[in-house]
Amino acid sequence: MSGSPIEELSVPGAVRWITRTLEGEGFETWAVGGAIRDALAGRPSGDWDLATRATPAQVRRVFRRTVPIGVGHGTMGVLARDGTLFEVTTFRRDVETTGRHAVVEFADRLDEDLARRDFTINAVAWHPIRQVLHDPFGGSADLERRLLRTVGSPKDRFAEDYLRILRALRFAGVFQLRIQAETWRALAAAMHRVRALSPERVREELEKVLEGPTPPSRVLGLYAASGLLATLYPELERTIEARRVPEGGDWFSHELRTVDLLSPARPELRWAALLHGLGEPGPGPDDPDGIDGADTSVRALLRSAAVLERLRASNARIDRVSQLVQWAARPPDTGGTDAELRRWLAAAGRERLPAFLRIWSAAVRADEARGGPWGREAFLRLARRLRGLVRARVPLDVADLRFSGRDLIGMGYRPGPVFGEVLRALLEEVLDDPERNDPHYLRERASRWLEERKSDV
Ligand code: ATP
Ligand code: MG
Repeated sequence: MSGSPIEELSVPGAVRWITRTLEGEGFETWAVGGAIRDALAGRPSGDWDLATRATPAQVRRVFRRTVPIGVGHGTMGVLARDGTLFEVTTFRRDVETTGRHAVVEFADRLDEDLARRDFTINAVAWHPIRQVLHDPFGGSADLERRLLRTVGSPKDRFAEDYLRILRALRFAGVFQLRIQAETWRALAAAMHRVRALSPERVREELEKVLEGPTPPSRVLGLYAASGLLATLYPELERTIEARRVPEGGDWFSHELRTVDLLSPARPELRWAALLHGLGEPGPGPDDPDGIDGADTSVRALLRSAAVLERLRASNARIDRVSQLVQWAARPPDTGGTDAELRRWLAAAGRERLPAFLRIWSAAVRADEARGGPWGREAFLRLARRLRGLVRARVPLDVADLRFSGRDLIGMGYRPGPVFGEVLRALLEEVLDDPERNDPHYLRERASRWLEERKSDV
């Protein structure tokens, strides 16, 4: 396969420019890895990475605008005219690996650099000027026959870096590849090692799955089939055994179908959809995490927060996703009264309504897709009513009351914690009946409340 001419790959002009410039100085340079694989598979390429014989210092001397991205690892960023940053990495070979990280040194030849890459489909290089494919391990043929296998011995390659286990499942799912039997056996045998990976790397893998254009279920299904789900995400593994009532089927497949139906452009909704069944009772009498007793939606909140914390997600993401999970797992009763819907909006946050509607809509379609009961009519009615309440700007928050702490001060009361209590009590009345959001009425109720309170103490 080596050096075989194939139809032209469309390479960004800047990649040709970087190659031409470095080769003009005598440094052999190739476009390598993921972008070539994507192009061969007929997909839009992600980042174009270059591999070169030049050292980082030499790359810096050749280009006017460079950014030291990971000089220790041989990587310089080269800034193209349009402001795009391209990673240019010196040919490397591994000198020592631990399963979690590698010590590398610079190498002279492209082939050494390709040999340290994980899978044949990733160990391909394209020469942007000469337009030749360099594919010493047959990655392009593997793509064609839809086969994923490691470069060299699978056992050794997984032992060098356990992240490759996750990457194998991702590439197999995304490119719909069969995993070669020997590669699969080695992957399964090394599975328990993935617990040693840093949470950040594990999270980034899942982010790529949830935020990419391929339906995540393809990869997550492989997570489950390979034992990775049980190893890294036991609470999700339990949802495989959790039955959906009355819809039927299991929670895990429902989560996957729901995730697939949400846009990758809204990753937090996908995260929430993936985690929204975590509160459901799984197999066995005991809850292994001690999160028991609470109601389904609170268990879902606590468990999804625990998963995200374990993955070292940002606090903002933990908060947003676990809140979405909590309230998505507890929609208002479709036959509820307006007051019940207002209370639900007040608790769940009206600003989040569009997010909930997207998640539920996906969940309803996910049930339909497997022939479950038609929840669509009830869902659409509920969605209309909730949207109507938000659009009508019904008061849902203390800040919406036509009465405030300032009015209490005007009435001669001294500010204190009791102000908050009064206002919340007034809000409860207004949630029951928005007509009560009237300054005179609220003033009257406030002084009554405070008087009663005084006689209490
Ligand atoms: P994606 O960007 O979708 O994750 P990618 O293949 O581009 O896919 P990167 O992490 O960007 O993945 O890495 C670029 C290239 O570096 C890969 O194509 C592969 O050749 C090599 N590579 C990355 N991670 C590893 C690894 N853990 N072991 C061996 N080679 C790797
Ligand atoms: Mg990449």
